[in-house]
Amino acid sequence: MDNNNKPICPYAKKCSGCQLQNMDYQRQLRFKQAQVVKLLGRFHRVANIIGMDDPTHYRNKVQAAFGERGGKLISGVYQSSTHRIVPVDECMIEDKIADSIIVTVRKLAQSFKMRAYNPTAKRGFLRHVLVKRGFVSGQVMVVLVTADGDFPSQRSFVNALLGKHPEITTIVRNINIKHTNLLLGERSQVLFGEGYIEEQLCQKTFRISPKAFYQVNPYQTQVLYSKAVEFAQLDGSQTVIDAYCGTGTIGIIMSDKAKQVIGVELNKDAVKDAKFNAAKNGVKNIRFYCADAGEFMRELAEENEQIDVVVTDPPRAGCSREFLDSVVKLSPKRVVYVSCNPVTLARDLSYITRHGYKVKKIQPVDMFPFTEHVECVCLLSRK
Ligand code: SAH
Repeated sequence: MDNNNKPICPYAKKCSGCQLQNMDYQRQLRFKQAQVVKLLGRFHRVANIIGMDDPTHYRNKVQAAFGERGGKLISGVYQSSTHRIVPVDECMIEDKIADSIIVTVRKLAQSFKMRAYNPTAKRGFLRHVLVKRGFVSGQVMVVLVTADGDFPSQRSFVNALLGKHPEITTIVRNINIKHTNLLLGERSQVLFGEGYIEEQLCQKTFRISPKAFYQVNPYQTQVLYSKAVEFAQLDGSQTVIDAYCGTGTIGIIMSDKAKQVIGVELNKDAVKDAKFNAAKNGVKNIRFYCADAGEFMRELAEENEQIDVVVTDPPRAGCSREFLDSVVKLSPKRVVYVSCNPVTLARDLSYITRHGYKVKKIQPVDMFPFTEHVECVCLLSRK
């Protein structure tokens, strides 16, 4: 890695969330491009990575851990691979409004004499604060993650927070009594508003709940999904699979141009949101199934379904072998593969290109400036 530039962020060393802090932005893009070319160049020429004009404050989802130091509340990030909190009030990749709300929550909590949860002593109350903001809709959700028990002066606290930040549209309390890496626990209680926010993306409206996955960089998500739509080359006659569909975003965006769309997703809350999103947007030619994408595709293949285009957007681990096998059996004309991990993408492309498909396009998109992550969208055609 290049060491010419000093990190711009004062927390860089302790936080280590942004691995490419020591490169200026153009250099980061060249670094990511080279990485994708190295991993995927053997399949096809790699188009130039699409970067951001302003690569700062892009994150629409911000979370902070709460603790105490010297009798005062602190909030920030965990120092890499420890449970020690590094106090951070402003982060260069996070939404500024979300950051300022977290600072307000800390100040209010201090004045309400609220204690932070101490995992060793198993005492205290406030554990984390999570804020999600719709950059287009302007809606803001605040999730206060707490231990069990009474919320001290709950109503006054909520009113004071709304008084300082009238832009907040919903406040949720989430109770997490476990000692895991998962931020959110099972139980939630809506303290104000609807308990979710809505956001617009590619002219459609989507519900974002506390737990469901939603892309964290809304500017580049628009770019990424537009590429996926372009690669799918739909003319209204195709049956499309949206695999690993989350809350149905890609499938709903494509539905206008497809005969029908079938979405499949493992997380049942996400499927619920996906169905809600379809109805909200008046989309009638889409169905969602809650299932393992691999098993679902195997069943489709066994039933000899006619599928024209498969869109897949798996987690970092990539697609399962069962999934890829079934894609090959279903033999769609095109596969559009959206990937957040070029390593597993290379593995999956290598399999699928040995089984009757050719890579036609590879487009990297910088969804996560200053971090080492790189997203790609890839088009495959049946030979
Ligand atoms: N396409 C969506 C979500 C992509 S994230 C979007 O762009 O918003 C990947 C999704 O895959 C997550 O929602 C996760 O819950 C889901 N997932 C993980 N393993 C799965 C599996 N085995 N089968 C189906 N879905 C799975």
